Amino acid sequence: MTAKVANQKIDIEICDDDALIIVDLQPDFMPGGNLPVVGGNEIIEDINDLIPLFKTVVGTQDWHPEGHKSFASAHDSKQPYDLFEAPGLGPVLWPDHCIQGTFSADFHPNLSVDEITLILRKGIHHDIDSYSVFLENDKETETGLSGYLKSRGVKRVFMCGLALDYCIFYSAMDGINFGFEVFVIDNLTRAVDSPPGHLERALSTMKEIGVKFIEKKAILA
Ligand SMILES: [Zn+2]
Repeated sequence: MTAKVANQKIDIEICDDDALIIVDLQPDFMPGGNLPVVGGNEIIEDINDLIPLFKTVVGTQDWHPEGHKSFASAHDSKQPYDLFEAPGLGPVLWPDHCIQGTFSADFHPNLSVDEITLILRKGIHHDIDSYSVFLENDKETETGLSGYLKSRGVKRVFMCGLALDYCIFYSAMDGINFGFEVFVIDNLTRAVDSPPGHLERALSTMKEIGVKFIEKKAILA
């Protein structure tokens, strides 16, 4: 699902203290994958165009051990996308996806990875999911990304990838809370929107806290 919320009047020149964060462009999140996001494959080439503009480029991977507790298969009588709430998990359970070391968890083969300066893997703890690239879902365990970005002088982060209403949503919120100015490039992301209405709530929450939405064309080469 695509969300059209960008403010078309913004033009942005990329500086050395900007970072591009490419979230979870992995085969399992593409059409045909185990947790497909509609249109996820449509954004890869446009993201590749942006990579050379940034001095700091982070590529993240969802990276789960087998039997991870975010999977419906790890719970009795549960199906993928069933509602589920537990500390560090929810609001839904997922199909098995992004198992560590498998092709499905690798970067999509069309993504230009050579200029990625940091690869960040998340969701590695068996009982805790990690939608955010900054904080795991227990809201305590840091991934270390904030420290990495700050040590490189990063002030503004530009987020793209999958999925808008989960990993991008939680990452953008945490990015603000860690003191970054956060831009979501909304035509370079796609949403899951499960359960229904989740996307709309995510968008309004991000806007309330000060996340800015732009389209790719607002970024000046
Ligand atoms: Zn996951």
